[in-house]
Amino acid sequence: MEKRNIPIALPSMGQEEWEATREPIFSGWITQGPKVAEFEKLFATRHKVKHALAVSNCTTALHLALVALGIKKGDEVLVPAFTWVSTANAVIYCNATPVFVDIDLHTFNIDVNQIKDKITPRTKAIIPVHLFGLCANIDEINKIAPHLKIVEDGACASGAGIGDKPAGGLGDIGCFSFHPRKSITTGEGGMITTNNDAFAEQVNMLRNHGASVSEEQRHKGPKPYILPEFNMVGYNYRMTDIQAAIGVVQLKKLDTLIDERQKWAEFYTKKLSTIPWLTTPSIPNGYKHGWQSYVLYIDEAKAPMKRNDLMEYLQQKGISTRPGTHAVHTLGYYSRTFNIKPADFPNAFAANEYSISIPLHNKMVKEDFDYVVNAIKLI
Ligand SMILES: *Cc1c(COP(=O)(O)O)cnc(C)c1O
Repeated sequence: MEKRNIPIALPSMGQEEWEATREPIFSGWITQGPKVAEFEKLFATRHKVKHALAVSNCTTALHLALVALGIKKGDEVLVPAFTWVSTANAVIYCNATPVFVDIDLHTFNIDVNQIKDKITPRTKAIIPVHLFGLCANIDEINKIAPHLKIVEDGACASGAGIGDKPAGGLGDIGCFSFHPRKSITTGEGGMITTNNDAFAEQVNMLRNHGASVSEEQRHKGPKPYILPEFNMVGYNYRMTDIQAAIGVVQLKKLDTLIDERQKWAEFYTKKLSTIPWLTTPSIPNGYKHGWQSYVLYIDEAKAPMKRNDLMEYLQQKGISTRPGTHAVHTLGYYSRTFNIKPADFPNAFAANEYSISIPLHNKMVKEDFDYVVNAIKLI
């Protein structure tokens, strides 16, 4: 078979996104203006939440979510041990302590059965991650720890959900990413969702230097001498209107993009689940996967080659792959600061060693998917 080159991810962008940037560029309103407002409104509607507030990325979203919840020094926040590093970093930004919880290897999400043991009188919140686009079991978390505030790390989960409830409205605050590795992108970008008016008001001020009067209000109002009040130390975590203009176009495509990914994910699963040393993604009943990534788990005891050798072999064939994500407790800063060993969270460590994300994006054609499947089947 002729060699193909298949990147792990590619944004689905083109003419429409390009044209959408004209409006903010020529209007002169370039940051947190009307396009941001339009993007937020569309996002809130799609995710069935009262408020959506755009920010600069999902890491700043997570930070603001925790600040809005009042997380501070001395507090503990539960985070899964297998996730992108910024889930835990956001807790550190608040001078609070991230407390890791191991994951369930079937879903790669936080193991709800291990949450209870990690709760202390200082535990204030939990950040379940909807990893790779599959929602964590928020209902169960609510049952186990109804007193904890829930911040959904939905970085990978735009458009995902449980039953008819979309991600972003399952907990107290939801955080999303529009990094190019996610299913829709604005270059960099993030969104905070909530049904709580007070949290939304806090986030609205915090993302804009702590200002209690927005620039937009100031420009529109009849009293140009009014300066905002600054009753808190805020941040500049705003999104630009150029990003939001792209976001509006992307968001309108979201469900089509996910449907297409769903179809190809099913194709992968059908073809690859017959391989005895591979475990394909398992989706609990009633969950709608967002398919940010398609991640396999390798049983090295049965496999003809080790995970890393498999990744190198696929790279030589032009197929780019990645480990699923990180076991954060093994990363230098966390293992040193909290004196944690890899084996302390064995499932997260196993996922770190034996997971492999294979290409799944909307610029792939049938021949690409056939090529990936054939390359793996030839092993
Ligand atoms: C990508 C990602 C983030 C960070 O998103 P950014 O927008 O790049 O800051 C956080 N958490 C998870 C689970 C992610 O996959």
